[in-house]
Amino acid sequence: MTRHDAGLAPAVFPALAALIVHPDEGPILFDTGYDPAFFAATEPFPERLYRWTTPVSLAPGQAVADQLPAFGFTPEDIRAVVVSHFHGDHIAGLTRFPNARIVCARAGLAEVQRKGRVSRVRRGVLAALAPADIDARAVFFEDRPRVPLGPDMAPFETGADLLGDGALLAVQLPGHCPGHWGLLVRQNDDRTRFLIADAAWSSGAVRDNAPPPRLTTALLGETGPYRGTLHALHRLWARNPDLIVTPSHCGEVGIETCRAD
Ligand SMILES: [Zn+2]
Repeated sequence: MTRHDAGLAPAVFPALAALIVHPDEGPILFDTGYDPAFFAATEPFPERLYRWTTPVSLAPGQAVADQLPAFGFTPEDIRAVVVSHFHGDHIAGLTRFPNARIVCARAGLAEVQRKGRVSRVRRGVLAALAPADIDARAVFFEDRPRVPLGPDMAPFETGADLLGDGALLAVQLPGHCPGHWGLLVRQNDDRTRFLIADAAWSSGAVRDNAPPPRLTTALLGETGPYRGTLHALHRLWARNPDLIVTPSHCGEVGIETCRAD
């Protein structure tokens, strides 16, 4: 289901999140990955179908909120969670960060709030994972100033400047599902990392411009825009050997840290 040129075999599919420590703003997450809340949300029907189609294993201590102390933070310290999109595997931990602004696309949040449990589950959305006060805490990419990304980032043209200093730029990556965005992070080693969420399911898919089968992309989003986004990422990657492109479910990505010290 993940690569149109691959065979039929089970594939391990990590669900990654990123911890970004901004010098002024403090700790910020990009997505949350899985959390025990996922298992509660997929206990009843029809939500249980989600768990059956994508079986999840989460060892104790692996949820992001439980990993934070190893990095010197508590869940309450998190200032913001940047949400790439509202699929369950990206927002399962949202309720664990009570002090965080939730920075997302308006169209993404609308997916959680659309009517119809069955239709939500079919689209990969579990409404129970959204905090009850999400409307009051939401900040939308669409309302942030748009800045030009410069010729190095072509064919991507503009980003939403989340903090006003150019350190975190949200970039629309259409096709995977409504309201799907990635995040450009300016690291303190002066390299740029492009967290592309589910615009590709592996680094190899970006390198080879290899999309999932139409069946998969049509089920969740729109095949034409998805393939356009993947092709744009492929061209960007080919021209920028220094750019680090990180998909959320890539098995090649381990725990990486990048620090000034
Ligand atoms: Zn997704």
